[in-house]
Amino acid sequence: MSRSSNLVLCRDAPLECHNSFRVPAQASWLAEIGNPALIPEILAIPELRNRPVLVLGAGSNVLFTKDFDGLVLVMANQGKRVLGADSGTVLVRAEAGVGWHDLVGWTLNQNLCGLENLALIPGTAGAAPIQNIGAYGSELSEVLDTVEAYDRHDDRIVRLDRIACRLGYRESRFKQEPDRWVITAIELRLRYEAPLKTNYPGVAEELATRSGSPPTARDVAEAISRLRRRKLPDPAEIGNAGSFFKNPILPPDQFRRLHERFPALPVYDTPAGKKLSAAWLIEHAGWGGFREGDVGVSPKHALVLVNYGHGTGAQVWALAQRIQDSVWSSFGLHLEPEPRIL
Ligand SMILES: Cc1cc2nc3c(=O)[nH]c(=O)nc-3n(C[C@H](O)[C@H](O)[C@H](O)COP(=O)(O)OP(=O)(O)OC[C@H]3O[C@@H](n4cnc5c(N)ncnc54)[C@H](O)[C@@H]3O)c2cc1C
Repeated sequence: MSRSSNLVLCRDAPLECHNSFRVPAQASWLAEIGNPALIPEILAIPELRNRPVLVLGAGSNVLFTKDFDGLVLVMANQGKRVLGADSGTVLVRAEAGVGWHDLVGWTLNQNLCGLENLALIPGTAGAAPIQNIGAYGSELSEVLDTVEAYDRHDDRIVRLDRIACRLGYRESRFKQEPDRWVITAIELRLRYEAPLKTNYPGVAEELATRSGSPPTARDVAEAISRLRRRKLPDPAEIGNAGSFFKNPILPPDQFRRLHERFPALPVYDTPAGKKLSAAWLIEHAGWGGFREGDVGVSPKHALVLVNYGHGTGAQVWALAQRIQDSVWSSFGLHLEPEPRIL
């Protein structure tokens, strides 16, 4: 291992503490960096130059099914600050290694709103654009202004505006081009005042438990945090990566045919089409609370696959594939995994 104030570099590094599934795996090399200026230096080290590279934040959206024979680059650069204000909006910058939930809390402390519905999502600020994190009726795309990233094709740091990031439902150009980008910072455009989004199922009811003045952004964040703690298994106790599958989005015709066969199928209208509940499909294919050995489907939420202790990534992935086959034969729908499978 070599260590300086901004760099920790180790060989044969265990990854168990670098993934929220807590499955065992090893990386041939792991570099934890606190300064993006070191990226080109590390990638140029002769032993590392031609190896695969995996950029990692907190590892809460990855599944290691085997060892990683390459360099794991953990972005650990810190810092968050207000860059400036402009016609009612405030530009905030967070370095890639900042914890996402810490950032949400910090913006609320500055009396800024925009991130309240994304409270308690695990992970780092740098990973947030990868799948355009979303929850409780909000998505990062609503507030993202700029992504700063190291472009491995051109060996330089570039700035990408929101359009260039090509964000969609759990999608982005970074997800489509995983070998190109190392996100070094994000900039968000927030507001001191904005209408709060409280119409997502459960949020208004949770807010109704408090009395007094109209809810603030902090009240919404706290209500959503309470809902999430009740509904999702805590990765600190049971390994998981949140939702394992994306909710399928269907064109209206295909949805109509399916709805005729399954009238109880929940649906949400989105600009991209009819969004179905993958959790409902998994439950109704008979997988609710399923457990085999140390891997299973969370009894709290059918969309969450879990590692009860000694499960491996290969076992979780084998279970995921059985669920995919079963949903396909029951409903004719393909469930697409949300985490990155390695
Ligand atoms: C309990 C639980 C609940 C969750 N709830 C939600 C939710 O409500 N909504 C939601 O959208 N997600 C949710 N997730 C998924 C996860 O929290 C997010 O995807 C989060 O953004 C991942 O951050 P991370 O730092 O852990 O990324 P990692 O898991 O480390 O990486 C995820 C992906 O991003 C890439 N990546 C990471 N950092 C960088 C970087 N700096 N530059 C380039 N690429 C990078 C990785 O290569 C990988 O492809 C949940 C996960 C858990 C465990």
